[in-house]
Amino acid sequence: MPKVYNWQLGRDMSYPYEGRYPERQWAFVFNINRCIACQTCTFACKSTWTFSKGQEYMWWNNVETKPYGGYPKFWDIKALQLLDEAHRKAGKDARWNTAQRDGASRPYGVYEGLTVFEGAELESPPQEVALGYEPTDEEWSGPNFYEDTATGARSSLGDTTIEATTLPEHKTWFFYLQRVCNHCTYPACLAACPRQALYKRPEDGIVLIDQERCRGYRKCVMACPYKKSMYRPTTRVSEKCVACYPRIEGKDPLFPGQPLEARCMASCPGKIRIQGLVKKSPDGSWTEDRYNPIYFLVKVARVALPLYPQFGTEPNGYYIPPRWVPRPYLRQMFGPGVDEAIQRYAAPDRELLAVMQLFRATQQIIFRYEVIQGAKVFEGTVAGRKWEMFNDTVIGFGKDGKEVCRLSVEEAQHLRPAKHYNSI
Ligand code: SF4
Ligand code: SF4
Ligand code: SF4
Repeated sequence: MPKVYNWQLGRDMSYPYEGRYPERQWAFVFNINRCIACQTCTFACKSTWTFSKGQEYMWWNNVETKPYGGYPKFWDIKALQLLDEAHRKAGKDARWNTAQRDGASRPYGVYEGLTVFEGAELESPPQEVALGYEPTDEEWSGPNFYEDTATGARSSLGDTTIEATTLPEHKTWFFYLQRVCNHCTYPACLAACPRQALYKRPEDGIVLIDQERCRGYRKCVMACPYKKSMYRPTTRVSEKCVACYPRIEGKDPLFPGQPLEARCMASCPGKIRIQGLVKKSPDGSWTEDRYNPIYFLVKVARVALPLYPQFGTEPNGYYIPPRWVPRPYLRQMFGPGVDEAIQRYAAPDRELLAVMQLFRATQQIIFRYEVIQGAKVFEGTVAGRKWEMFNDTVIGFGKDGKEVCRLSVEEAQHLRPAKHYNSI
């Protein structure tokens, strides 16, 4: 297989095609800490794209409870098991060499284990281009099994000795994981299709399935380690998240001509989601774009991390990890950047705090932000360290350079007059 550079792994890796990169890449950041599992995102997608016959079990956006939940059931445990077997066969460890971290170009060090593509190469002769499996109908049958089911320390009836929950890690825990297609840089779905029915758009890196070319072989369903390609029995072809591409193209009548965030992003009442377009260089790396909010969160503040980067598809979805969850679990899920990301999120510097206000401030995609410094409004100790808060103002600008939102760190308050205390 040809070699391509995967910056999340800090090294070259095998991929069935030569690297080809879009001018800009569709990408998002989800702040897990804020999700309330209301599923508004899930239904925004369903009511837009998957409400028809044959799509009843299709949830392009889903929110699952970790560690037990998953859609399809146990998708990540099964993918990790396949990778684990490949490592055993090769006598290798799935280790990260964090001593080789190097700024924005190699922020997590070097992954010395195998990816899903390299694991598949071990077969002689190779049967598939990526390690994978096809979930059963039963596994696809419910998007939300094990909702709110916790793991960890248990008490028995009448036992009051169990300790109260405290940070930095809860002994009994669960969290919500929000999932859409990652529109990967090296998509396993695309690599596996014998009909070349999948393609990555050169303008925004969105990965789509050509419904005319697809013959329903379901190789993409098998190969995607995130299980975000799905088969529709009524049309006998596969479908997947389309990244709400008409909105990116400025076709939504709400703001004609302006790129808008996807439906699942724009509808989130928890304000956990921000989506954007990052600039790409011809070699596949991210072009420095210091004041693009996604670039800032991933590459500068480094609070947002890729989901299972070890799979090797270079997913373009990034997550701010949940503060209360045991770190070994999070390191397996988001790689070795977890400890630094949580530390920075728990006591954010003033620029990060300002940028965090941009989540769900507008439906328009923010291409650039600016921070105007304000007065100090708080001083104290957070996470054991001195911390100061400033009432800075953050301004977001759209594709055409015009202002699309303006927010201050301190929320504006309206004091109701005493005689009208129940009205505004
Ligand atoms: S809409 Fe937002 S808060 Fe609600 S489940 Fe989805 S991601 Fe979480
Ligand atoms: S998440 Fe899966 S379906 Fe989406 S681009 Fe990546 S490999 Fe393909
Ligand atoms: S980006 Fe659009 S198509 Fe994809 S999951 Fe979200 S709402 Fe659905």
